[in-house]
Amino acid sequence: MFTLLRDLRRIRRGLDLPGPARGGSLAVRHVDAGSCNGCEHELTLTSAPAYDLQRFGIGVVASPRHADVLFVTGAVTNRMREPLLTAYAAMPEPRRVAAVGDCALGCGVLGSASELAGPVEDLLPVDLRLPGCPPDPAAIAAALLTLIGQ
Ligand code: SF4
Repeated sequence: MFTLLRDLRRIRRGLDLPGPARGGSLAVRHVDAGSCNGCEHELTLTSAPAYDLQRFGIGVVASPRHADVLFVTGAVTNRMREPLLTAYAAMPEPRRVAAVGDCALGCGVLGSASELAGPVEDLLPVDLRLPGCPPDPAAIAAALLTLIGQ
């Protein structure tokens, strides 16, 4: 048990993330607007013991009404356009939007079919742009940490 905890501390030190936030928190509402699920796998990993974003006060919530930040992955499809706008409209102010992954940034990873509504920033005011296909969990963790307290 102590060996595991020691190994975990060593791994976390290697990630070079800041210490736990004091007095800050961030509620994240995730919307998959048309991804291949690669970005979702990386987001899921930020809850693994090595990152454990909950210790920083960062948690994924089920409703946009409880969210501080809308975390959007995937190329926005025409069918997901309205649900994305509806989720944004339901969020309380101040609300922020993170476009995560090359697809959300409109880099055309999945092509430029007529079924796509365009990059997230054509539809919503984007505060955080995180490139990568997919961005790794350390990059996602570091990006979300920059939003705490802003
Ligand atoms: S950015 Fe890459 S991993 Fe993320 S949804 Fe697009 S193709 Fe998949």
